[in-house]
Amino acid sequence: MGRLLIVSNRLPVSPELDENDNLVFAGSAGGLATGLGSFYKRYESLWVGWCESAGCDGFELRERLLQEHSCVPVFLDPTDAHLYYEGFSNETVWPTFHHFAQYAQFDEETWQAYKRVNHRFADAVMEQLQPDDIVWINDYHLMLLPSILRDRMPEITVGFFLHIPFPSFEIFRMLPWREQILNGLLGADVIGFHTYDYVRHFLSSALRLAGRDHTLGQIAIGSRTVKVDAFPMGIDYERFASAASSPEVAQMTPSLRAHIGDRRFILSVDRLDYSKGIPVRLEAFERFLAEHPEWHRKVGLTMVAVPSRTDVEHYQLLKREVDELVGRVNGRYGTMDWTPVRYLYRSLPFNELVAMYKEADVMLVTPLRDGMNLVAKEYVATKDHSGTGVLVLSELAGSAAELGEALVVNPFDQTDIVDAIGKALDMPVAEQQERLTAMQERLRRYTVVDWAEDFMGAVELASENRRERAALNLSAQVEQRLLEDYGNAARRLLLLDYDGTLVGFSAKPGSTKPDDQLRTTLHALAADERNEVVIISGRDRKILAEWLGDLDVSLVAEHGAMQRRRGGEWIEMPMPPDTWIEAVRSVMERYVDRTPRTFIEQKEHALVWHYRAADPGLGPQRARELHEALAGLTENHGLAIMEGHRVLEVKPANVNKGRAAIEFVESEVWEFVLAVGDDRTDEDVFEVLPASAYSIKVGGGGSLARYRAEGVTEVRSLLGRMAR
Ligand code: UDP
Repeated sequence: MGRLLIVSNRLPVSPELDENDNLVFAGSAGGLATGLGSFYKRYESLWVGWCESAGCDGFELRERLLQEHSCVPVFLDPTDAHLYYEGFSNETVWPTFHHFAQYAQFDEETWQAYKRVNHRFADAVMEQLQPDDIVWINDYHLMLLPSILRDRMPEITVGFFLHIPFPSFEIFRMLPWREQILNGLLGADVIGFHTYDYVRHFLSSALRLAGRDHTLGQIAIGSRTVKVDAFPMGIDYERFASAASSPEVAQMTPSLRAHIGDRRFILSVDRLDYSKGIPVRLEAFERFLAEHPEWHRKVGLTMVAVPSRTDVEHYQLLKREVDELVGRVNGRYGTMDWTPVRYLYRSLPFNELVAMYKEADVMLVTPLRDGMNLVAKEYVATKDHSGTGVLVLSELAGSAAELGEALVVNPFDQTDIVDAIGKALDMPVAEQQERLTAMQERLRRYTVVDWAEDFMGAVELASENRRERAALNLSAQVEQRLLEDYGNAARRLLLLDYDGTLVGFSAKPGSTKPDDQLRTTLHALAADERNEVVIISGRDRKILAEWLGDLDVSLVAEHGAMQRRRGGEWIEMPMPPDTWIEAVRSVMERYVDRTPRTFIEQKEHALVWHYRAADPGLGPQRARELHEALAGLTENHGLAIMEGHRVLEVKPANVNKGRAAIEFVESEVWEFVLAVGDDRTDEDVFEVLPASAYSIKVGGGGSLARYRAEGVTEVRSLLGRMAR
């Protein structure tokens, strides 16, 4: 078994020089480190992350980080680090992904630094990477890393987890580098988000920006699949629960209570970040006091704001705004012996934080947007079975999906928050306990360790699946065997689909003419008298004859409705009369009118509705509707409706590529048969082949074919080698 390489912006330990200039490490048991703890037993693990040298010797630092903490530092040029971290990560990605696009800077210079730093991380990972290792990349600082790594090592196993929200497509599309970011993420085998909403947003962006459709959250990319799923991050429940009943916390309680007196205690704890909705919360509390004079001197709000990103301008402005608001509320309502808002602008030691959670009657968590929000979960975990407390929680925090027993509010609706504060203060003890218990059960069951195991389980499974699929890939060995069999055979049949197999797709079906390279290959194959080359396509005969008619190949048009043997004439299959065409056309035309950028192609014996260029969400939906609408019309007329690559085709039911293929297969004794195709209609060909035939499916998805090719390039290279 390989090792686990965790990659995140920062390492879990940071170097410092003590008073004697000795190198020491300050560590924090952050959520991620705790969650991953259980893997340290199962896997040999390494953690790769950015590290500032703190003025110490780089060599000693690197050695000690590795030996003592299994950490691999990435050292960054200070200017690049600033542009990447404060710049692109926190002034572009953070605001955009939190739906604060108006705060986002779109700056080419910071983007370039972000790219450079992602490549630096890739260098550091590659230096460590061994073939069976699993790489787990964390968060928005490193969204290009999955693809950079996959380019460098295609067989790598990579999981990516995003700890912040993924925005709706309408916001994400504003990013000038949206495609690069999307494709960067799609290099992973598994992409994890906190909630199903973020999953939906990501899938919608993948479809709309990269044309990547999904089946149950699985996106096929060539012969690879990317699994996109929700894994809500939990907390280290026992750590908070046991701290809450520890003597250290008990010791702190009296002095805390002395400050609060017998007043009710409302608490809020966040980093000072505009996504946390701190000003709205203060204004709501101010309005609560204005509307509820009966609560004056009987309630206090303690607001802990942890300094954050103080180098970024919007954070500095926010700090000023919050300072002023606190001053305003206290100035307006405070008395000699009552300060309505106690404001602590600093980080609290763990036990003090737990003591606050434990004592708080109401926890006010009202972010305007938050990937998860662990504070809400931690608060609930510190309440023992006789504990009381009410959680007021924003519906726009990821944790709201799991904490339905909280008083859930819309953080943009001040009235909603004011009402919730009143309701929380008035809530009967029994109801408080009932709600807390329900939430506690859930949080105890799905801790940060379960979260990490779940995510890693998905990555391990993806890795196994890929290995199994790889066995079917057109590997060098298979290709070698195929070429040998081909070389030894006196008679060979090659059945080749055209679109999606020999040429790529284009929005205009008329623009995928064979290029010189393809024509040369086909010509060389056809010129060998041991070969029968058949182009077996859904295209009509006119276009096949125009594009390929001069080559010495057989042509099968319209999925087998007509064929032209080498040097022969076109022969048509017996066909029902075409009286159906006008009725079907008029239904299709309605769908063309209602679905921009779609059109009808008329073949001799078929009608095709093309929706490749349509809105990627709308196209498939209209195709389903059209399928239904046509079902009644086609039923009794010997017609079939066929769904291909972004097309819906109506054609006589007795026509299919399999029937055409079988004629060729049975026409003589072949010593070598090869069939290559990419879509549903080619499955009919694969089905009728002898067991010894080589059948190759191009791209992902289920297939009867024995082997798989990644794409057109791989097919062409194989045919090129055969031709030579
Ligand atoms: N926290 C802390 N000291 C403090 C205040 C908060 O260590 O003084 C921790 C808190 O326990 C929580 C984390 O900071 O685990 C904040 O996580 P959350 O998901 O709520 O918000 P984020 O800061 O990640 O946006």
